[in-house]
Amino acid sequence: MITDKIQIAAYLFASILFIYSLGGLSSQESAKRGVMYGIVGMIIAMLATVLGPKMQQGAYVYIIASVSVASFIGLALARKVEMTSMPQLVAILHSFVGLAAVLVGFGSYLEETGKTPDMTEEGHVKHVIHLVEVYLGVFIGAITFTGSIIAWAKLQEKIKIGNKVFWFRTKPLLYPGRHAVNIILVLICIVMGVLFTLTEDANLAMIYLLSMTAIASFIGVMLVMAIGGADMPVVVSMLNSYSGWAASAAGFMLGNDLLIVTGALVGSSGAILSIIMCEAMNRSFFSVIFGGFGNAPSGGPAKEIEGEVTAVNHEEVATLLKDAKSVVIVPGYGMAVAKAQYPIYEMVQTLRKEGKNVRFAIHPVAGRLPGHMNVLLAEANVPYDIVLEMDEINDDMPNTDVVMVIGANDVVNPGAQDDPSSPIYGMPVIEAWKAEHVIVMKRSMSAGYAGVENPLFYKSNTDMLYGDAKVSVEKILGFLKD
Ligand code: NDP
Repeated sequence: MITDKIQIAAYLFASILFIYSLGGLSSQESAKRGVMYGIVGMIIAMLATVLGPKMQQGAYVYIIASVSVASFIGLALARKVEMTSMPQLVAILHSFVGLAAVLVGFGSYLEETGKTPDMTEEGHVKHVIHLVEVYLGVFIGAITFTGSIIAWAKLQEKIKIGNKVFWFRTKPLLYPGRHAVNIILVLICIVMGVLFTLTEDANLAMIYLLSMTAIASFIGVMLVMAIGGADMPVVVSMLNSYSGWAASAAGFMLGNDLLIVTGALVGSSGAILSIIMCEAMNRSFFSVIFGGFGNAPSGGPAKEIEGEVTAVNHEEVATLLKDAKSVVIVPGYGMAVAKAQYPIYEMVQTLRKEGKNVRFAIHPVAGRLPGHMNVLLAEANVPYDIVLEMDEINDDMPNTDVVMVIGANDVVNPGAQDDPSSPIYGMPVIEAWKAEHVIVMKRSMSAGYAGVENPLFYKSNTDMLYGDAKVSVEKILGFLKD
């Protein structure tokens, strides 16, 4: 057992470590150190809580049992999960935080109603503040819970139950007047919230709380269902932020300062990431919060795609690369699926040895997770100085001899610039088509995550190289080394 003061000191130290952790995660070079700070901070936080003065005798058995089971499941899942399924894992973890906030809210409310009421004025104020904390915590938690489950399903796309396979709709589910419906539902929750804090009838208060939980859960579903495929990254980071605020609300209910601080750190950093992603994707932050901004702009009929698709073989691509002076590689989700980053880096090293200027162009939403491509390239030891952001490299495209689009699709779609009917219209993209020659490496002509056709494939300076990205790169490498 530790004293109150030691616990406060430990919480303070853990909070500082969490801040250092976030600071470390802001750059690739310091990310590992950042993760270590986070792990140490969390261990200190857990020990200070479990050994703290508020812990009841006998609670250890439940805590040790639940932490052991949860750690075992978490470890097994994290070890098993493929890099391509990380976003789904993150989304489902957010849903747990939301669910935890809902459960803590109900638990905290039931505990409070079981106590003898403090009839003093101060006691009444404290009671009302606690009810507001409970109500807000449950509201944010319920939205985070169901919204994250829908986000998980949208990212998973294919859900297998027994022998049956279900496809989850990634396209936005839009119905007329949905914004009005959402606003009315929020207003109903606010009115019920006021009644919840004012009523002295415990049964009635429970009905308000339960009804609000149902409505908030429905809002969570509808907000995320309304988001279109290409806009999902912003939703994932928004849900990350919501899960932080839900944890913070749980901290208020439990009177746990560290949970309040940690939740606020996650909530605000998630919100900042969402703003950054909104800017990168040219979307309005407020439309994300209110859901449904990912719908297709009403820009008239779809633009007709002109041109013909032409295919090349591996040897021809190798010849093209041998003749090129500057090469840009645009990786996308397909690189992650194929685990092609290792042979790609070998190919880059081979080309660089011959004096060619080879660089990577990274779109902020390439892959299925913010920073997905950077993580994969770092895994293959690609030096950071040749990995450039979209804005850093787009101006160089007209001076590039060959652009290799490897398993990317939406992030190089010119329709985002010139087809107002496209669901991704307005999203900045890597302007691969401005290069002298474009090679697109993918297995078929199928669409990317946003489900839209890509006019780049039909351009006269584009050739398709069909096949699994890793196999294709290995074959090209073979010809380059000949
Ligand atoms: P896309 O989903 O647009 O395209 C990926 C392409 O990879 C597909 O067209 C597919 O074509 C190809 N592919 C799949 N497997 C392989 C393989 N083994 N070898 C070669 N090619 C393969 O990916 P992008 O990275 O271009 O864009 C990301 C999309 O995901 C955007 O719409 C983004 O908004 C969305 N998104 C991003 C998130 C993030 O945080 N980064 C989160 C959620 C969604 P084929 O089947 O023909 O091989």
